[in-house]
Amino acid sequence: MNIKDRRVFITGGGSGIGAEIGRTLGAAGARVAIFDRDEAAAQAVCSEIEAAGSPATVAVSGDATDKASTEAAVAKAKEAFGSIDILINNVGIVRDRYLIKMSDEDWDGVLDTNLKSYFLASRAVAPLMMEQKYGRIINISSRAWLGNVGQANYSAAKAGVVGLTRSMALELGKFNITVNCVAPGFIDTPLTRNLREDVWEKLVKSQPISTIGTPREVAYAVQFFAADQAFYLNGQVLYVCGGKSISSFGSA
Ligand code: NAD
Repeated sequence: MNIKDRRVFITGGGSGIGAEIGRTLGAAGARVAIFDRDEAAAQAVCSEIEAAGSPATVAVSGDATDKASTEAAVAKAKEAFGSIDILINNVGIVRDRYLIKMSDEDWDGVLDTNLKSYFLASRAVAPLMMEQKYGRIINISSRAWLGNVGQANYSAAKAGVVGLTRSMALELGKFNITVNCVAPGFIDTPLTRNLREDVWEKLVKSQPISTIGTPREVAYAVQFFAADQAFYLNGQVLYVCGGKSISSFGSA
């Protein structure tokens, strides 16, 4: 699968899934820009990617929910690489609460980070891709877009990502830009590590493949969509969740 010399921009790439996507695409010969509010984390991931043999990296710190910050980050990556070929919208947070306890801040924070930021980065990057008539946009949604207790905000944002993906796929296809979604299930990252042990066990047991996934599994799926050979895959959602998406009743 050809990724070599492609120029990649990853939002929220300083940790977990985004960092692993950077490592995976970097190891395949891509040049990777990591955009994260945690400057030290972005820098550390870039150093790791370069040490493993990637031709070049750029670490950019900033807030992915902010238009000016996002546009400045995209401009910095463009300055370093000349353009951007692959955008990975990955940034995400959780603020889990039952609906009646969910504050406006819980709602706005999750919608801004997990959905609006995807729009902001896509709008900033798409003109570069349109000009060069090549692009791959890969949005990290979640199996939770199908619905989850305590995640009205997160599920709504992740469902929004699916709608955003499908609309962008329709608009951008004629410029040889594909837009697809990867929807992970339960993945071992800092985002999930603070879950209570009983919740963790329940989640794992509800999956046909009863083990937690790792960022590596998600990065493989992203690499699949990112490759030149994936030009005919557009507007799709690929689950990486051990089969949990098949049924909300879980496995036998
Ligand atoms: P993570 O917490 O390990 O990493 C998220 C990164 O985003 C961090 O480096 C953080 O600093 C950065 N970030 C957060 N808000 C930001 C902002 N406003 N501006 C810039 N950077 C910001 O999380 P993760 O588990 O790797 O999640 C990555 C994506 O995968 C998210 O979209 C998440 O919803 C999705 N996802 C995760 C799981 C899972 O089980 N871990 C499952 C499904 C989907």
